[in-house]
Amino acid sequence: MADYTIGMDLGGTNLRAAAIDKEGRMLDKISGATNFAEGREAVLSDIVAAITNLGEKHGAAGLAGIGVGVPGFIRMKEGLITSSNNLPFLENFPIRDEITRRLGTKFILENDANAAALGEKWMGAGRGVDDLVLLTLGTGIGGGIISGGRVLRGFVGMAGELGHITVVPNGNPCGCGNQGCVEKHASATAVTAMARLMQLGHDVGSKELAEIARGRDERGEKARTIWRIMGESLGVALAMLINTFNFPLYLLSGGMLPAWEFFEPHMIRVAKERSFTFRATATETKIAQATLGNEAGLYGAAYLPWIEK
Ligand SMILES: [Zn+2]
Repeated sequence: MADYTIGMDLGGTNLRAAAIDKEGRMLDKISGATNFAEGREAVLSDIVAAITNLGEKHGAAGLAGIGVGVPGFIRMKEGLITSSNNLPFLENFPIRDEITRRLGTKFILENDANAAALGEKWMGAGRGVDDLVLLTLGTGIGGGIISGGRVLRGFVGMAGELGHITVVPNGNPCGCGNQGCVEKHASATAVTAMARLMQLGHDVGSKELAEIARGRDERGEKARTIWRIMGESLGVALAMLINTFNFPLYLLSGGMLPAWEFFEPHMIRVAKERSFTFRATATETKIAQATLGNEAGLYGAAYLPWIEK
């Protein structure tokens, strides 16, 4: 009888996989650096080895399916990653069919931020909520939309690229070809760049900038200005999302949450100013912190086989 699934998170530098039962209990977790420099075959072997390892430990008969979250644009129907900064040699390679062939078990490919959003819906801050948006605040900003309890994918699987919502029409240029994308104004990378412009240091991370913001000196004031700008940019994006979806829950995750107290008031203020829907539903619409951290993607990937047929 099928009683567990395997969720995998294929990141930029490492691969993590977990066996999780149907109630969401993590039975086992493995992680390791993948040898991305060695190319496609090395990574494919690592994926197969991790799944085989967990499958042998927990019994092949009980395995209901495998979900894999990957960074990049997915073509669901073809089982391809069409574009990924972190996994360039997997681009346009039939990864789903190749792994299925090697393992003899079907697996589901999903964008990593979509998987994280689904994980939060299943076992995190979105438990019991069927409609939510997750923004992952990291070096870029990822997005995942859960509608009716399922990942909203669009017609090829590229929906939810929320980091590229324009929040400043003539803002900072982005690698996607647009300018003023929210990830160029509110990601960890953007915050570090602003800290440099404000002469707070060359490589100030989000956590450090949160610490500086606690100071009652000039540096503290500069840091609070940066968090205000970051929060306002997020607020513009959230206003659009709230107007578009009228969902009850918008979650934020990532390494910038330690600065929540500094950017949250600005984010909420701007989202309210710009969204009639938000003002009209202020007590029912929640903007909150995600709770699963970097395990969200593992839970979401593991949940996929239970809900996708
Ligand atoms: Zn962009």
